[in-house]
Amino acid sequence: MERKPVHVAMYSGGASSAYVAYQMVQTHGVENCILFFTNTLWEDEDNYRFMEEVADYIGIEVTERIDGRTPEEVFIDTRFLGNSRLAKCSEELKVKQTIFFLEELRDEHNLEPILYFGIGPHESHRAVNLKEFYEHRPLEPVETRFPMIETFREDIDVKVIIEEEWGIKLPRMYELGFSHANCAGRCVRGGFQHYAQLYKVWPDQYALQEEMEENFREHFEKDVSILKKDGGPYTLKEYRERMDREGIEGFLKIQDETVPCVCSFS
Ligand code: SF4
Repeated sequence: MERKPVHVAMYSGGASSAYVAYQMVQTHGVENCILFFTNTLWEDEDNYRFMEEVADYIGIEVTERIDGRTPEEVFIDTRFLGNSRLAKCSEELKVKQTIFFLEELRDEHNLEPILYFGIGPHESHRAVNLKEFYEHRPLEPVETRFPMIETFREDIDVKVIIEEEWGIKLPRMYELGFSHANCAGRCVRGGFQHYAQLYKVWPDQYALQEEMEENFREHFEKDVSILKKDGGPYTLKEYRERMDREGIEGFLKIQDETVPCVCSFS
């Protein structure tokens, strides 16, 4: 029997993914849609508030999948500290959970998933990568859609729409100056600029990340780090001490060449 299509918004806690989810439900009806979220347990509490308020506004429940480990626990299990080049937390906590869910939709519910992402034109290279990824995994290709690039003709300011028309306050991560709202500023794929921003606006989170890195180094007796400098390790402790010595402002302008987490869907 042919599978019935089901429209799945990859819901991240970001403004664009919320807007795309809203449009998807308006177009296809709530009974044919799913709001899908993979929880890393590191998300900022205000993201959960935002996600719930948006789901209420749209009139659909959030479907959540949780591996049960935090990124730190994944690093310990795999004996590998995630960094700007390779982040196993994303693979374990987000990608695997998504693939399990897609298989479940097909095998147990005879549904054919179509995935919706809130990625905008300024990140179209990421749309290409995601399209390519879901063409090959899971076993059968999965259709991907990027309405912010493919469908909406005009330049929509989703943040203004959400705050002014929907009356929902955006996640505080935006106010703090982060472009993605994932993992409460602790993304191991963030680079020098990201961590300078974190140190400036949210030093407690920086301290947690520094502590995690130091614990990992000590526990496994490995000279590894989240950031890399001249091809070698450069710890958050070293970076913080340098920012304290030289002043943080200069570090906020560094252009990072990191690849955002596959799970930061905007
Ligand atoms: S947002 Fe960053 S830290 Fe969080 S799961 Fe993705 S890669 Fe890991």
